[in-house]
Amino acid sequence: MAMHAYLDNNATTQPAPEVVEAVAQALREDWANPSSIHRFGQQARRQIDLAREKMGQLLNCSPSELVFTSGATESNNTVLRGMLAARAPRRTILTTRLEHSAVREPAARLSEEGYNVIYLPVDIDGLVEWDPFAAAMEEHADDIAFVAVHWINNETGAIQPIERIGTLCRERRVPLFSDATQAVGKIHCDLKELPVDAVSFSAHKFHGPKGVGGLWLRSRTRMIPQMLGGPHERERRGGTENTPGIVGMGVAAELAHQFLQTDGPQQGEAQRDRLEQGILKAVPDAVVNSVNAPRLWNTSNIGFPPLESEALLILLSEKGVSAAAGAACSSGSLEPSPVLLAMGVPAPVAHGSVRLSLCRYTTDAEIDHALRVVPEVVEKLKTSMPVG
Ligand code: PMP
Repeated sequence: MAMHAYLDNNATTQPAPEVVEAVAQALREDWANPSSIHRFGQQARRQIDLAREKMGQLLNCSPSELVFTSGATESNNTVLRGMLAARAPRRTILTTRLEHSAVREPAARLSEEGYNVIYLPVDIDGLVEWDPFAAAMEEHADDIAFVAVHWINNETGAIQPIERIGTLCRERRVPLFSDATQAVGKIHCDLKELPVDAVSFSAHKFHGPKGVGGLWLRSRTRMIPQMLGGPHERERRGGTENTPGIVGMGVAAELAHQFLQTDGPQQGEAQRDRLEQGILKAVPDAVVNSVNAPRLWNTSNIGFPPLESEALLILLSEKGVSAAAGAACSSGSLEPSPVLLAMGVPAPVAHGSVRLSLCRYTTDAEIDHALRVVPEVVEKLKTSMPVG
């Protein structure tokens, strides 16, 4: 096969070989219902318990605080509604316009239903602006149900000052929920130490299977369950457990935990920096989004004005580079990413922005390939643009 660089790891990652094996084995051997009393059921139950322990080790939390779900979308929807219900009569949520749509859309729905959803101002790098945040915490002190700010942005890799945000939330006795889908498995997440109260994650972002993820709720965090139908997950999420998915997530957590104890993230960052610097050298008018924010080691989001990201992505794919733009294609036209626009990125930059995201399996050969292809594609598109 011709050379290919898969640089779309924030969309999803390839399952680790150990994960594939563990999922297959669980499908073969641990298919009994984990709620069944008989020994086959209990065998499946033990596999789930083991996965919960591994996930707890990755996040440094108590396994009993973990609720397994079908992924971060379900976790986010559940926590938004469930924490609001638990905090009634409070009706205010502080959040941002930079959340993943799995927070943004349920938040918008809640606003339509009459809840008071406040979008915190962010700076050009996508970080929550401190003074307006502190002022909103003060102004709405008596009505805030919780604060919902993502940990790491999926489009730019910008890392929010989650510890500082959480510290103010603690002072105000307001729970902090953070969508940590891009953080878990990629950076060290110490939930015992951090001032957060609820966190969502998804296995397929850290080389686990799709359709499985979870919600961490600090033991004192109150949430009214949203998925009713059985006493599963300590009565916090009904439904027969996805044993193979959960087992696969456990193995993925164990591997991620090992990875985070090596210099893997630093090596990944060096690869990302080499890619980014090389592209900037070859395309001097390219713009790195969130360049001044602390960024996740694997992500580079680059604007190539006046090009359109859709054309870039198609040509990149033809030449063997899988990348992404912030927003989904609809009927041939690509809307610029609402996240970049909400950050204040100028429209021509947002229109031509492409996200390159690495993983722990990314090779130097893939980076070399992307370094050849990206400038070539940009050049080709620029020369084929109509003059003026
Ligand atoms: N939150 C963030 C920050 C994400 O990046 C994603 C996946 N793109 C999700 C939530 C949703 O995860 P899932 O599709 O696994 O439900």
